[in-house]
Amino acid sequence: MAGCDGFHRVGRQTIPESVRMVAERVYPFAWPDILAEVAPSTDELIYALHPDGFAMHSMRSDTVSRLYLKVDPGEDIAGWSRRPHLEGHSTRMALDSWSLQSGPTLEKSITQMRSFLSSPMRWGQLFRAGDASHIVPPTGATGLNLAIADVTKLGAALVRAIQEGRTDLVDSYSDDALRRVWQSTYFSWWMTSMLHPPPRSDPNAAFLLQMQPMQLDYATSSAAAATGLAGNYTGAVRSY
Ligand SMILES: Cc1cc2nc3c(=O)[nH]c(=O)nc-3n(C[C@H](O)[C@H](O)[C@H](O)COP(=O)(O)OP(=O)(O)OC[C@H]3O[C@@H](n4cnc5c(N)ncnc54)[C@H](O)[C@@H]3O)c2cc1C
Repeated sequence: MAGCDGFHRVGRQTIPESVRMVAERVYPFAWPDILAEVAPSTDELIYALHPDGFAMHSMRSDTVSRLYLKVDPGEDIAGWSRRPHLEGHSTRMALDSWSLQSGPTLEKSITQMRSFLSSPMRWGQLFRAGDASHIVPPTGATGLNLAIADVTKLGAALVRAIQEGRTDLVDSYSDDALRRVWQSTYFSWWMTSMLHPPPRSDPNAAFLLQMQPMQLDYATSSAAAATGLAGNYTGAVRSY
């Protein structure tokens, strides 16, 4: 049985608590996610670090853009008109010779940022895959990639077990997947920490605020760091 029903359904909770190990970190940030009917303002994804907070410009198609903005957890976006979002983005991504195009909102939702890992990913005949077992903050953009990697490996393992009677891959499925997931958990935690100014109440805020531009400078100016970031972002560094 494959438990691949996302974070909110039974697959995540089915393994008994006495067996289940949970590692979780809830970040003091949330991302409103706005889908807008407007052509992307740029060909590339933009991640912005600004004293007001993180902002991201992403795209879904030639005519639909996706915009994310860091807000405090618990922010009520239901009553938001387009203006606060647009102003937030325009300020946080302000650059000479570039401007953010606006269009009607198609969808809006809010995502609490969290890292979550529930192990093992196999319990008896139940194999868990994707968000049913792990969540990474979307800053690293690897959640869907991880889910696909899980089912790809699980599919091959089940075929080998059923067709050839060899159980080595199903036996190692959970440990192998968890190595991949922890690596991605580290990467998305690192990206999140680098790009989100800490809340003022954080006793380390002054230190972190001065370190973040240095981290970003290193990630974008060192070939070794940029290669590591790209390999983690695409998943190319993960061979298991
Ligand atoms: C704001 C945001 C941005 C993101 N951006 C990225 C990104 O850029 N790149 C990236 O890689 N990832 C990203 N992710 C993460 C990605 O969306 C998830 O990690 C991924 O969708 C997980 O896939 P999944 O199949 O495990 O779960 P889900 O996508 O939740 O799919 C589970 C499916 O199971 C179905 N289901 C549930 N219960 C049952 C049932 N009883 N019977 C049958 N079907 C059932 C549901 O209807 C659903 O279709 C983002 C997530 C968020 C919230």
